[in-house]
Amino acid sequence: MHRIDDTLTQVQQRIHAAAMKAGRNADDITLLGVSKKQSVEKIAAVAALGLKHIGENYLQEALDKQAQLTEQALTWHFIGPVQSNKTRAIATHFDWVHSVDRLKIAERLANARADHDRPLNVCLQVNIDDEDSKSGCAPEEALSLAKALSQFDSLRLRGLMIIPKAQETLEQQRPAFAAARALRDDIASATGHPLDTLSMGMSADLEAAVAEGATIVRIGTALFGSRH
Ligand SMILES: *Cc1c(COP(=O)(O)O)cnc(C)c1O
Repeated sequence: MHRIDDTLTQVQQRIHAAAMKAGRNADDITLLGVSKKQSVEKIAAVAALGLKHIGENYLQEALDKQAQLTEQALTWHFIGPVQSNKTRAIATHFDWVHSVDRLKIAERLANARADHDRPLNVCLQVNIDDEDSKSGCAPEEALSLAKALSQFDSLRLRGLMIIPKAQETLEQQRPAFAAARALRDDIASATGHPLDTLSMGMSADLEAAVAEGATIVRIGTALFGSRH
């Protein structure tokens, strides 16, 4: 068992070292603590240490935690698959949704968010390795989906999210992240939207993601320990 202040420092140091190596400023990389299947106490502990961006995968679990963490001024990110019957709750209880991968879901989120005072930040999830088992749109569909999303005033398209195939080494990990960055750049220039976000990198591959331009790294186990 590690103390959470130690693991938070370790993760911050990994981000810092990877940023330095890439000639980047570590302040341009947001650490998103992924707390699925972790306790409210652990979230409160990292929040007290200054980590305010929290990612959850399951709606009901997230709502239960949010109800117990109203004092912490957290920014909540939904990062799991979005079911269409959950879009209203997701659009009202989260600041970000990283896992938008089809127009119907975007439209439902947009309608549910319409009477809110701020747009919902969204990322398009792209199935960058074309894996059968993964959510996300095909890379070839990303541009037309991005164009379709920009019609919704209550959504703000920020960029792309990917979960690449697990790979052992940094050199094996980098190409998927590089492909996501290239796709983001293509979409940004084709649409004229400055897409400022690449949500990529998890506990096992954050260095490769930072090397290729990640702006949000989503870290679960390295921060909170293994999930129950
Ligand atoms: C669980 C999860 C993470 C965190 O993964 P770790 O390997 O525990 O860091 C990041 N992103 C998504 C989408 C997840 O579901």
